[in-house]
Amino acid sequence: MTELLQQPVFFALVAAVIGLCVGSFLNVVIHRLPKMMERQWRAECAELSGQGAPAAERYNLVLPRSACPHCGHRIIALENIPVLSWLLLRGRCSACGTAISVRYPAVELLSGLLSAYVAWRFGFGLAGCGALVFVWAMIALTFIDIDTFFLSDSITLPLLWLGLLLNIGGVYAALPAAVIGAAAGYLSLWSVYWAFKWATGKEGMGYGDFKLLAAICAWLGWSQLPLVILLSAMAGASVGLGMIVLGGRDRAKPIPFGPYLAIAGVVALLHGETITRAYLGPL
Ligand SMILES: [Zn+2]
Repeated sequence: MTELLQQPVFFALVAAVIGLCVGSFLNVVIHRLPKMMERQWRAECAELSGQGAPAAERYNLVLPRSACPHCGHRIIALENIPVLSWLLLRGRCSACGTAISVRYPAVELLSGLLSAYVAWRFGFGLAGCGALVFVWAMIALTFIDIDTFFLSDSITLPLLWLGLLLNIGGVYAALPAAVIGAAAGYLSLWSVYWAFKWATGKEGMGYGDFKLLAAICAWLGWSQLPLVILLSAMAGASVGLGMIVLGGRDRAKPIPFGPYLAIAGVVALLHGETITRAYLGPL
């Protein structure tokens, strides 16, 4: 089996199938993690204010089983095949016919395609498997941030630790570069935040953004920090401008910055060294 996995095309195919299934799970994480955190905050607030914690039914990433939000129809295994089920059901609940958002199969497809590309790019091994986890985390963070303007600590912080641990063996960067990267990543956006707040009195981004950049640079090392900031600023500016021009988007409305950091992180993970070398020449 290991010999088969060494074949780049075979590993890419396996990763695509795993990526599709993980994408299905990422949909659950994207949908439930913000709700789980909100419940926890409510329970803590109730406790602090002296009321007893409200009795709540179990709600986590596994329970209760997925059901149609409209009619409560339990989703059976056959209706839970990534992308295929959505196509076969023509995007509707099998019981009541309510439309199911196209975002579910889109997240699954994105996860499958990116996983295949990552596997093909890195090949089978620690670097390849780690990179898959990194990409899955970026997908979850992106959509949670779009929905809630929030980047969850329960994803960013473990990701940061995992990056540092992997780099003990220098998988993506030397350990000193990773540690400096994590600190520099956090401090760079933290300084921008305070400079912006001091100059305009507004908050341009949140602490979740600092932690996400710290995590990305814990994986890639400090040398990728300028590239990640540049790419995310470019992506953010072009999408923001496009939205203002095309959709007449309200300029005062906040735009989540996390998705651009996540996109920049994935590009830097996959091609950062090539891009940096192309600009700076051989170092
Ligand atoms: Zn239904």
